Amino acid sequence: MGETLSGKKVAGEVIPELTAECKKLLDRGLTPKLVIVRFGANPDDLFYEKGARKTCGQVGIAVDAHELPPDADTAALLRVVGELNNDPSVNGILLMQPFPKHIDVQAVRTKIAPAKDIDGMSPFNEAKVYENDPTGFPPCTPTAVMEILKNYRIELKGKNAVVLGRSTVVGKPVAMLLLGEHATVTICHSRTTDLAGVARQGDILVAAIGKAKMITGGYVKPGAVVIDVGINVDMNGKMCGDVDFDSAAPVAGMITPVPGGVGSVTTTVLAKHVLRAAAAQAGAKA
Ligand code: NDP
Repeated sequence: MGETLSGKKVAGEVIPELTAECKKLLDRGLTPKLVIVRFGANPDDLFYEKGARKTCGQVGIAVDAHELPPDADTAALLRVVGELNNDPSVNGILLMQPFPKHIDVQAVRTKIAPAKDIDGMSPFNEAKVYENDPTGFPPCTPTAVMEILKNYRIELKGKNAVVLGRSTVVGKPVAMLLLGEHATVTICHSRTTDLAGVARQGDILVAAIGKAKMITGGYVKPGAVVIDVGINVDMNGKMCGDVDFDSAAPVAGMITPVPGGVGSVTTTVLAKHVLRAAAAQAGAKA
């Protein structure tokens, strides 16, 4: 049975470090602040916001939320983003995604100030991920994957990493971050031929496809490290990942659970990014 990689353990170790970093800013009279912008109050967004508030609260970061009506248009969102960009008391801006279908995502991506874009949606931060430039903000979820691998001291150099999924928010950035750590990376998607065969080449297997429990033990190389990014609901209404833990865990060397895996680290990364943004903004002002 593979060892369980606990996101809760990782978060538990990182939060005290972040709290100490935050204290340094608070001692200088700076209160780092995150503002979450969302459309309406859908349960998924509120669940994430609750987690972000909890983690940020533990660390000492202030959190505000700005709720737009669900039918607010792109101009309204751009107005809010512009105000937050210009508000010196705001260090980080998190725009809850996915946006309603009528929103012009590209316009929003180019509007958000890169220095406050702590979930890496601007083209500027995206470019930094591709350039392996650590001064940017990669999206929080792929960064959480890397935090878990780092925390458990999993060697990536020269390893075959297979990423299932090629979205802009998870698949592609996590592939770039793995490449930056010198893994040999394969990215799979819905048109990949023989997905299980390709997946079985992975010493590291990252699943980010949004299909409940699709990745069974037959997709896993014996002894591989399996990171499950998926957040789905199973047939019984329970939260589950993209990986079928019960069949994959006996084959894997190490594996993240859902819940308690990547999702547990995402808000920790969010807090880390807000602190880094606050420190950089304070430095620039000094
Ligand atoms: P998307 O739907 O944007 O992308 C899914 C990707 O998986 C696409 O590239 C798609 O391929 C690929 N895919 C879908 N079905 C298959 C299949 N049968 N075989 C192979 N590839 C397939 O999802 P996201 O990247 O946004 O999210 C992925 C998962 O991660 C979801 O479960 C989501 O809930 C979760 N998530 C978790 C977060 C966390 O904090 N833990 C945060 C964000 C997301 P194609 O491009 O060809 O369509």
